[in-house]
Amino acid sequence: LVSRKRKSEDTIVDVNGEKIGNGEPTFIFGPCAVESYEQVRAVADSIKAKGLTMLRGGAYKPRTSPYDFQGLGLEGLKILKRVADETGLSIVTEIITPSHLEEALDYIDVIQIGARNMQNFELLKEAGMVNKPVLLKRGLSATIDEFINAAEYIISKGNTQIMLCERGIRTYERATRNTLDISAVPILKQETHLPVFVDVTHSTGRKDLLLPTAKAAIAVGADGVMAEVHPDPAVALSDAAQQMDIQQFDEFYEEIQKFMKTH
Ligand code: PEP
Ligand code: MN
Repeated sequence: LVSRKRKSEDTIVDVNGEKIGNGEPTFIFGPCAVESYEQVRAVADSIKAKGLTMLRGGAYKPRTSPYDFQGLGLEGLKILKRVADETGLSIVTEIITPSHLEEALDYIDVIQIGARNMQNFELLKEAGMVNKPVLLKRGLSATIDEFINAAEYIISKGNTQIMLCERGIRTYERATRNTLDISAVPILKQETHLPVFVDVTHSTGRKDLLLPTAKAAIAVGADGVMAEVHPDPAVALSDAAQQMDIQQFDEFYEEIQKFMKTH
């Protein structure tokens, strides 16, 4: 059902009026993890000032080590909701288990399914049964075919509001955290009718590569770009090395806008 052969026209996902996949890139910015109201609000104000509509932040964090910060959970969802109510921004946040899904729906606008859960088939099926857009990220070592099949799990249960997100894959290369598979974007656009995002933060893991990879994403036809922003990355509880601070965010967005005007 996600195949272009079944439906030739692009799916446009509407998130509170933001039309994703209509030709204009959509941006999703926000901290890696929700840490406090003040932290989220500071980033939200900066997003809002740019005229953007979407805010990300993890309340449930699927961390590699069990001893790392696991997220604020429901408390984090409440912080996101409060900031959404105050600013009008739409919330994108990761859900890691089917048992959290129902409860989370009241707090969020887009369900993110993370790389580590791309083949959590029960979660995919549950996400397929709710009336809420889903941002599905590519698995750490998933082929494009496996990625498309994961989206198929969601759509087969009825939910057609799916966005795909290339976030880098595991290769032998260590210069970047993951290897951004830029060609996945045009392939996914050809093979499916779904909008495609590129997460430049988790793919590169390097602040100096956020801008060039975001430009590349837009150049190859991505429908959106995701990147992490934290008011004080040095003290961030996760992904401290790769989140932009607010000033870097301002510069990044200015450069991206210049690029979009001239390309
Ligand atoms: C995230 O976006 O917060 C995240 C954990 O990314 P990924 O699932 O792509 O690793
Ligand atoms: Mn992160």
